[in-house]
Amino acid sequence: MTKEELWQATLAEIELNISKANYTTWFRNTLISSRNNGSVVVSVPNNFSKEWLENKFNKLILRTIRGLSPETKEVSFVIGAKKLLSAAPPHNKAHKIPSSEPTTSDQLSFEQLNINKETNLNPKYTFDNYIIGSSNELAHAAALSIAEKPGMEYNPFFVYGGVGLGKTHLLQALGNSLKLKHADIKIHYLTAEKFTNDFIAAVQNQTLKSFREIYRKSDVLLIDDIQFIAHKERTQEEFFHTFNTLYENNKQVILSSDRPPRALEFIEERLKSRFEGGMLVDVGFPEYEMRVEILKTKAKEKKVPISDEVIQYIAGHIQHNIRELEGTLNILAAFYKRGGPEITIEKAKKHLDHIIKRPRRVVSLKKILKIAADFYDIAEKDILSQNRKREISHPRQVIMYLLRDELKYSYPLIGSKLGGRDHTTVIHACVKITEELKRNNEQLAEELNFLKREIYSS
Ligand code: ADP
Ligand code: MG
Repeated sequence: MTKEELWQATLAEIELNISKANYTTWFRNTLISSRNNGSVVVSVPNNFSKEWLENKFNKLILRTIRGLSPETKEVSFVIGAKKLLSAAPPHNKAHKIPSSEPTTSDQLSFEQLNINKETNLNPKYTFDNYIIGSSNELAHAAALSIAEKPGMEYNPFFVYGGVGLGKTHLLQALGNSLKLKHADIKIHYLTAEKFTNDFIAAVQNQTLKSFREIYRKSDVLLIDDIQFIAHKERTQEEFFHTFNTLYENNKQVILSSDRPPRALEFIEERLKSRFEGGMLVDVGFPEYEMRVEILKTKAKEKKVPISDEVIQYIAGHIQHNIRELEGTLNILAAFYKRGGPEITIEKAKKHLDHIIKRPRRVVSLKKILKIAADFYDIAEKDILSQNRKREISHPRQVIMYLLRDELKYSYPLIGSKLGGRDHTTVIHACVKITEELKRNNEQLAEELNFLKREIYSS
């Protein structure tokens, strides 16, 4: 493997392990500048990146490189990637890399060149390349209808669901489609994080008036990851007024979030009730057939030659994140040259080993306990205690159910891990939760959905 290939494969894998924002911020414009005697030098654009990578991502990077190139002993960082990259436009760099596709970091910078300055929309996201299955058909149908008649029926439009399930894609596709159909309307897409940062900057620079002008005069405002404004009271206040101005003028507001409005913590009640007053739809986990179709489509786009057998293998193992599905293709693409050796099932298994095995490894008892304790706002030690109050016993039963269902722990093992309980208690809890779900206990179903999403996406 050349150093370019090694870094490309490393990036493809790191991308799956951290948030998109982190990935873009810290790994764009990086490359391996040299590799000698087990020591890898990564070149980064500036000192700030260098410090972050050294302090926060060193272990992850080393572990990932080692997984791909076991002789690696250490990784160090130097400043200088920017110079290397700016020598040639990023997308021209592909010729240096023998494997067919530009590296992930190149794709990112290339994409950024394509983003529409006025709307901030990325043209690569369209309805045409958005694959539909039972997990997203409602969201998709509502989006199509909004594309026809913005501001009319579904306002606000609130899409929620876990990480990597296509919320950003759907929002952007809707924005792009609106722009095509109604060329003269003012559309703005931005993340809630950017809204927050721009608002803070506007306060500091005393440019609030023009800040407000931009957003309150939109015909369509799309804000991605609205959960980000939790805890940020002044931003919420600002957003509330922006929202009302738009809403009262029949302008379309489109929002995405990682959870339904009711489950948003530290967001004002009046905002939540505004959100709930519109069209709420969720995007869930894609079913098997949809995963296969996504893989086939993306493999074609990326020109990765891949057999049905390999596709079925990946689709069978990666179930909870569409970005991860795509990530596996990036990894395979990093290893195989266009027209090169076939990607056999054995090779695919070898290269995707750490990723495919990851859910088992990552979803642990510890993680489930932590996520559930956070969600129900109780202490982990209470779960293990003999406390029988409902606010403790209910989470405990849910955890038992999750351990059984997701980790396939035996009943006695669950009992012993949760404070030495008898296995009959565990069976009772699992049966109870199953029965409640059968009886369509919506609140419980939503709790479990949320917990599973957290468990698989963090
Ligand atoms: P989210 O915003 O929910 O975290 P994204 O919209 O960023 O997820 O999706 C992650 C990746 O998966 C993107 O590259 C996106 O294009 C792709 N993707 C998600 N859903 C679909 C879909 N239904 N069809 C095709 N690609 C999808
Ligand atoms: Mg997103």
